[in-house]
Amino acid sequence: MSNKRDYYEILGVNRNASDDELKSSYRKLALKYHPDRNPGDKIAEEKFKAAAEAYEVLHDPQKRALYDQYGHAGLEGSGFSGFGGFEDIFSSFGDIFEDFFGFGNRRRSRSRVQRGADLRYDLTLSFMEAAFGTETKITVEKMETCPECNGSRCEPGTSPETCRQCGGAGQVSRSQGFFTVRTTCPLCRGLGQSIAHPCSNCGGSGQVQVSKKVSVKIPPGVDNGSRLRLTGEGESGPQGGPPGDLYVFIYVEPHEFFQRHDTDIVCKIPISFVQAALGDTISVPTLNGNKKLNIPKGTQPGDVFHLRGEGIASLRTGQRGDEIIQIDVRTPTHLTKKQEALLKEFAELESGKLSTKIKKILKAGAADAAGQSAGN
Ligand SMILES: [Zn+2]
Ligand SMILES: [Zn+2]
Repeated sequence: MSNKRDYYEILGVNRNASDDELKSSYRKLALKYHPDRNPGDKIAEEKFKAAAEAYEVLHDPQKRALYDQYGHAGLEGSGFSGFGGFEDIFSSFGDIFEDFFGFGNRRRSRSRVQRGADLRYDLTLSFMEAAFGTETKITVEKMETCPECNGSRCEPGTSPETCRQCGGAGQVSRSQGFFTVRTTCPLCRGLGQSIAHPCSNCGGSGQVQVSKKVSVKIPPGVDNGSRLRLTGEGESGPQGGPPGDLYVFIYVEPHEFFQRHDTDIVCKIPISFVQAALGDTISVPTLNGNKKLNIPKGTQPGDVFHLRGEGIASLRTGQRGDEIIQIDVRTPTHLTKKQEALLKEFAELESGKLSTKIKKILKAGAADAAGQSAGN
């Protein structure tokens, strides 16, 4: 039913092969088809993956028994699905690769699938854009895989040659006393190959700088210091690795009369002392336009009124905070003769009606002064 190749055939061993035979055969194939040695070679990549899959199954006694009895179908039934990519293979068999290639090589194997760099973009928003969210386009300068050579670094139509100094191993050995010291090949810098005709578009680097327009959707409720991650919008990975991410850091401009405290906004509203004393209905600004607010009789400076749900949406719950109106009672400074006369009349009606609190303060002050002079 399955058109997959036989695992024993892939590894080139007979059906009674011992563990050691499997391992040594797999080592040989993995070395031969290793992506470091065959960059961009799809056939080698398939063979490398096939060998890893065959070894993964056959070196596990349980899976091998299933496979011997039922073939590929038996493994599918058991949930085994092969490898998704190189990263899977390296994470499963990392220790094997370590003893294949000797110290230091494992890191290089991994660098094959190294992610591209993350990028940062600082975005300034108006108070209202942050409150309600917006969609904006930003231009990001970044390195992308060269479209001419597809990251192979070779002029189209040419291919890399095996490095003549290290023979493609990426390492050179030299003897030092009893030890053989292996170091990264100085000629190919460990890549195992040299490029005779570097791509003229990217100068042989495999990457080019591009300015890319990226659309950013800002959710309502972002604040100073909010950070958005745009997955995969960072720089391309070197040698075909996955791209990094783009982080957008948000800065919010202050508003003329709204101050933000988390999801609440505070607005200071001046009213006259007559409005404070007699009460009034006034208009106040909100994020959604002006709204009516009732000021009750006897409102004091600093009194606050909450307009429920007129604040900013929470990034987590979407629920809006309140708008808090702080009352600022203004004392008139330019009175007409008539206003002054009326206030004097008002004051006469008020005289003798000092608050109990003031009376208490004055009494305490007088007692203190008496105590002071008695002491001196
Ligand atoms: Zn070399
Ligand atoms: Zn190029």
